[in-house]
Amino acid sequence: MKFQDLQRINARYADELKKAAIETIDSGWYLQGKRIAAFEEQLCNYLGCRYTVPVGNGLDALRLILKAYIEMKVMQPGDEIIVPANTFIATVLAITDNRLTPVFVEPDPQTYNLDIEKIEEQITLRTRAIMVVHLYGRCCWDRKLKELADKYNLKIVEDNAQAIGAVSQQEGLNGTYKTGTLGDAAATSFYPAKNLGALGDAGVVTTGDMNLVKVVQALANYGSSKKYVSIYQGLNSRMDELQAAFLSVKLKYLDHENQIRRQLASWYDKYITHPEIIKPQTQYPEGHVWHQYVIRTRQRDKLQSYLEVHGIPTMIHYPIPPHKQACYSQYNNLHLPITESLSHEVLSLPISPVITQSDVIEVSSHINNFFSQRV
Ligand SMILES: *Cc1c(COP(=O)(O)O)cnc(C)c1O
Repeated sequence: MKFQDLQRINARYADELKKAAIETIDSGWYLQGKRIAAFEEQLCNYLGCRYTVPVGNGLDALRLILKAYIEMKVMQPGDEIIVPANTFIATVLAITDNRLTPVFVEPDPQTYNLDIEKIEEQITLRTRAIMVVHLYGRCCWDRKLKELADKYNLKIVEDNAQAIGAVSQQEGLNGTYKTGTLGDAAATSFYPAKNLGALGDAGVVTTGDMNLVKVVQALANYGSSKKYVSIYQGLNSRMDELQAAFLSVKLKYLDHENQIRRQLASWYDKYITHPEIIKPQTQYPEGHVWHQYVIRTRQRDKLQSYLEVHGIPTMIHYPIPPHKQACYSQYNNLHLPITESLSHEVLSLPISPVITQSDVIEVSSHINNFFSQRV
């Protein structure tokens, strides 16, 4: 068993992917062509959003949204962005790369997502946006977010890197329900191991705001919307035709694959029976696409070694929170106890469209055995 068997995941679509690759190679057109346009339309239809800007990767999608808001004078360097302390480093890199200041908010220990109740106490005169991360594929959204954004005139930016296909129980700012369309703008990653994975790097910005689209498009293209005329000091971050062609193939199967992940999660739920293990909770099944299935225990490191000896691959998402990373020495002294204890207790179990019920039974029985053997 592999934690993420990308070869087997993509082998299921090998014929279609190879055909897409050959057609793209033969077309002689590799950037900003009809495959990008087709993928954009397909993605807008899937998500129910107005606009997409395909870009180089998920981190760039996040960076470009914030950079565009700076160009639009919605925010300026030094302003504060509320961000979950419990997230992948890229969420925070997008903020600091734009010389904005991350303000870390602790997660809800039940969902591991940003604790919406703790946002308001962190809002200051310099707060300009709330970044929500749908961590592990679980939608992070609540009416309260909308109210806070209205009350303090804040943008809501979604880091949807882990959650494409997830659905909110409550409507977003635009009256829509899918993650990636709930806030003012969203970034999605198509890194190969994500739920919708390209065969290389790719990402997308989605939004209903035409002005934002124009600025992000220009920024991602050297800062120019007309050839050789530069309005902004931009960068080069474009999704290529080949990745768009692959993603068009795989997007058709996303809902089916997410359904497989839900089924696997419910099997883990059933077969992991030892009371010492804290299993993820779900109140609203459609709200979760199970990018990761994450359990918790104080014995995490010992359990991980035990499983490794028995041939069960696991991972830790994430062993060091952003504020404890060496690159953020200015935040190392912050005390965020929930985030820090999660980083010592979480363990991600294999979950992907090529994991089977018998894999789940095997993993679960090793976990149950580990605890039964200990006194
Ligand atoms: C993967 C990921 C990103 C970055 O996406 P890339 O395409 O790898 O740049 C950002 N945020 C979160 C939460 C992620 O999981």
